[in-house]
Amino acid sequence: MEYETIVGLEVHAELNTKTKIYCSCRNAFGLEVNTQICPICTGMPGTLPTLNEKVVEYAVKMGHATNCSINNVCKQDRKNYFYPDLPKAYQISQADIPLCEHGYVDVMLDGGVEKRIGITRIHIEEDAGKMLHNDAFQGSLVDFNRCGVPLIEIVSEPDMRSSAEAKAYLETLRSILQYIDISDCKMQEGSIRCDVNVSVRPKGSTEFGKRVEMKNVNSFSGAMRAIDYESNRQIEALERGEEIFQETRRWDDLKGENFLLRSKEDAQDYRYFPEPDLTTIYIPLEKVEELKKTIPELPNAKVKRYVKELGIPQTDAELIAENLQRCGLFDECVSIGGVSPKTVSNWILADVSKYMNETGKDISESNLTAEKLVKIIKLIEDGKISNNSGKIIFDEIMKNNADIDAVISEKGLSQISDDSAIEKIVNEVLAANEKSVNDYRGGKTNALGFLVGQCMKASKGQANPAKCKELVLKFLNG
Ligand code: ADP
Ligand code: ZN
Ligand code: MG
Repeated sequence: MEYETIVGLEVHAELNTKTKIYCSCRNAFGLEVNTQICPICTGMPGTLPTLNEKVVEYAVKMGHATNCSINNVCKQDRKNYFYPDLPKAYQISQADIPLCEHGYVDVMLDGGVEKRIGITRIHIEEDAGKMLHNDAFQGSLVDFNRCGVPLIEIVSEPDMRSSAEAKAYLETLRSILQYIDISDCKMQEGSIRCDVNVSVRPKGSTEFGKRVEMKNVNSFSGAMRAIDYESNRQIEALERGEEIFQETRRWDDLKGENFLLRSKEDAQDYRYFPEPDLTTIYIPLEKVEELKKTIPELPNAKVKRYVKELGIPQTDAELIAENLQRCGLFDECVSIGGVSPKTVSNWILADVSKYMNETGKDISESNLTAEKLVKIIKLIEDGKISNNSGKIIFDEIMKNNADIDAVISEKGLSQISDDSAIEKIVNEVLAANEKSVNDYRGGKTNALGFLVGQCMKASKGQANPAKCKELVLKFLNG
């Protein structure tokens, strides 16, 4: 029998606010354990939380960016459970009224096919601390620095049908988070983690099978492996005539297998109730609208514009739009204008990206500006310098912050494109090479290359090769 895989994802993204969600402790990664904590985020009895307004703003921005409706009046709820990294024994989250709901994102699949994935809801909540397991002290310690780090949880509809679709969805979410600058998106620091829900059903069936959830998968490739593994496991079980139960399994990325953790808990197991220590969240509608205006052009829209309006090939457009620095530079160059967008894109994907990869630096930390890049490209397009000289100038800017005109004159890079100057050279060279001229006219067309080469040599390499060739041909055929 043929089966279809169904995937729904719950993505947790840490927000990059300066302070935590309910206290004024710093929200920072990698500091000494248990130094960024206070009585509030460690849940001491008698303390009171105060909601960080920025967290609400950031979450509303994400709601706008994913086409959600915003519940400008909503509340927070306690989700009760016990775990050593959760000192309060409850997590403040949102249960029945999330801040944002009923949205979607369009993701680009291979071959340029677009697919819409529904967003069920986005709510705000606090992160828990972190258990540190170490053989050296034969036990576990707990770091509370992460307690109270603000999170948004983005819950998707079960709309994905393969691990590839899930990856495309995760990449889309990540680039949106980066574009609107509300999360660092550092996977290695756990800023984005996801719970992966998988079920399978016979192809053609319209009913969903029982879902299995794998919690806290912390890389996109891990999520893909977890989906493929789980979908195969379920298919094999069904083929053996077994039943699939709704359960939570732990994905072990190193082993590439998952293990039963527990049968699935239900919402009632958490005994959610409205958080009595916090007031209702109320966001004036003007504020909701104001936040909407801060949303920049998002990755998908950019890719479409690049392809449709600027004639950039789909894959190149995706590569440019995928990185904020690259598309920032690209957009700026295009708005300065006077050069072909395709050439700008080629430069950014080749030379500029190579520089970024080799040095690990962002464009903003380098000597390159859009003005300089456009100037180089324009000099090449106008035939004032060769393509090769352009690369030399580019390197000089990156290494020494050199002035473009200074490099051209110091290194003698300027190219002769002026018709009359080149004509003069061509006339001289052709007069001195009568044999080759006759060879060409007698049908030996490779004499052309030799003659153009001689002209380039006579100009000390400074003649524009295309112009040279054009004028040699004009002479030969004239
Ligand atoms: P819980 O917190 O109990 O996991 P949520 O409603 O927050 O429940 O999340 C449910 C997730 O599971 C959603 O992402 C949803 O798309 C996904 N899901 C629901 N049903 C299925 C299914 N049959 N197969 C795969 N994923 C599913
Ligand atoms: Zn604190
Ligand atoms: Mg879940």
